[in-house]
Amino acid sequence: LSLLGAAPGAPSCPHGPALLFVKTSQGREEGRRFYACSACRDRRDCNFFQWEDEKVSETRLAAREEYNRNHQPSFTHRQNVDRYKNFVLLPLSKRRFCQECQQLLLPAEWENHSDHQFLCDITTAQLKSPSQLLYPLENKKTNAQYLFADRSCQFLLNLLIDLGFRRVLSVGTPRLHEMIQSKASQEEEFSVRSLLLDIDFRYSQFYTEDEFCHYNMFNHHFFGGEAARETCRKFLYEENGERIIMVTDPPFGGLVEALASSFRKLMAMWRETGKEGRDNKEMPMFWIFPYFFESRILDFFPSFSMMDYQVDYDNHALYKHGKTGRRQSPVRIFTNLTPSMIVLPEEEGYRFCTVCQRYVSSGNQHCEICNSCTSKDGRQWKHCVLCKKCVKPSWFHCNNCNCCTLQMHSCEKTDVGCFVCGKAGHKRSACPSLSHS
Ligand code: SAH
Ligand code: ZN
Ligand code: ZN
Ligand code: ZN
Ligand code: ZN
Repeated sequence: LSLLGAAPGAPSCPHGPALLFVKTSQGREEGRRFYACSACRDRRDCNFFQWEDEKVSETRLAAREEYNRNHQPSFTHRQNVDRYKNFVLLPLSKRRFCQECQQLLLPAEWENHSDHQFLCDITTAQLKSPSQLLYPLENKKTNAQYLFADRSCQFLLNLLIDLGFRRVLSVGTPRLHEMIQSKASQEEEFSVRSLLLDIDFRYSQFYTEDEFCHYNMFNHHFFGGEAARETCRKFLYEENGERIIMVTDPPFGGLVEALASSFRKLMAMWRETGKEGRDNKEMPMFWIFPYFFESRILDFFPSFSMMDYQVDYDNHALYKHGKTGRRQSPVRIFTNLTPSMIVLPEEEGYRFCTVCQRYVSSGNQHCEICNSCTSKDGRQWKHCVLCKKCVKPSWFHCNNCNCCTLQMHSCEKTDVGCFVCGKAGHKRSACPSLSHS
């Protein structure tokens, strides 16, 4: 399956304009092109499907429009903002949050939720940490939410402050947004501002239209229409020299080209905000993503480089630091800022390599032959003279395959490359880049 991208005049599903796909085999298009939902990779979440050349009757178009309308959230953002204002006026004893509907309840609504589980005595502190109050969405394919561990979130925020940024466009980073918002309301000298763009509409219960836009990062769709787009544009316009950075942590399910295309559009929006001197510049950006997507990201953003910092999560079994010791997280920061400016914490073992002019993991040794610190996963890699590059310590050179790989592998080639690393010989599920035992 490959993505052809956003097409002008594409039909819409409840998640905005659909994307155009085609089945491919050995790099050739095979079969008819079709439109499918941009945001949901699981058909059970959104089953939108239309052949590119299909004639859609007026009746079906009307039915589709109605379906799309009916599948919007039950309250508008405006309504949620008003509800919040009423909610905070309530005494603690009347502040309830319905866990089933994931919704703040006003007393008049209690009855309708009487057989639902709810939390009571919702404090102001809880209202300021919605990412703790809301369930992380767990749908594997479509929208798994992996929330930053406090340490990583704090690190990111300190880093961007030290770099001189005062505005953060938070794209799919509710926890970073939340940390900024709550510091801004508590500490007087704290002058950083954030705008959250996220598809998770539950957040509209806690933030005003100037703080949150309901946004789909796979098709650059603002659900709030022109008004929301304008909010974003205004935010990107830097007043009083307040520099802006975009921080994004998208779901890892693929579609890198769709993400890149949306991020380009956000960059273009930044460029077009009227400030002179932005013409050939890129908006500073942190794109947080697993290291094995490095080549895919660099394909779209050649100016980016990958930092060694390992981003940790609270609710990801694989990616968080266990109590019993440090587990390696595969998630990294990709940025278009000069690598030497990204200072990584020495107390966590990172050190500065003067040759590479960047901070690297403690285990990342500078290879004299490659003339670079080559490890991607934090462990020390070894140089293979036949492959002419450094490889994972657990790999061996296979003379059949003519490359380094896991010792346990089958040499027979499959004709399609792996979805993750693009190499032939294995499928995504068996990709050696995904194994970090
Ligand atoms: N580590 C981040 C959360 C990353 S999880 C933090 O702690 O702040 C991925 C985020 O992207 C979630 O907030 C999810 O709601 C959002 N997301 C998923 N699909 C999206 C889409 N199509 N458009 C915009 N945001 C999306
Ligand atoms: Zn080095
Ligand atoms: Zn090497
Ligand atoms: Zn080799
Ligand atoms: Zn082999």
